[in-house]
Amino acid sequence: MSEHCLFCKIAKGEIPSQKAYEDEDIFVFHDIDPAAPVHLLLIPKRHIVSMQDIGANDAAWLGRMMTLIPGLALDNGCRPGPEGGFRLLANSGIDGGQEVAHLHFHIIGGPRPWHKR
Ligand code: 5GP
Ligand code: ZN
Repeated sequence: MSEHCLFCKIAKGEIPSQKAYEDEDIFVFHDIDPAAPVHLLLIPKRHIVSMQDIGANDAAWLGRMMTLIPGLALDNGCRPGPEGGFRLLANSGIDGGQEVAHLHFHIIGGPRPWHKR
């Protein structure tokens, strides 16, 4: 937990969010400013700044998070099959366009057209 981190506070329920999933390591919630009909954010509960800080010890929870993605996408409005799908995105660092300094993956999808970002 980083004391002043927005996403740490969201993971702890100290700041409200629209939760989509939670387990001991992972918290998933809807983006406050969705770029598409479906826009989820997946975060580790532990404070990790970005993908630049990932190491071998993170393989287990990170791998498990990846396996949750297809189900989360479908359960929250992404369409199945080749006409459906979603974009998976992790902005990392200033050059990567990251605005919130707590590692997060975006799931962005839902029926097109949408092209805000
Ligand atoms: P980044 O640019 O860091 O990859 O993405 C940060 C994302 O967090 C943005 O899409 C932004 O809309 C979202 N966001 C920022 N503040 C909040 C908040 O307080 N609640 C929620 N649910 N999303 C937020
Ligand atoms: Zn944090």
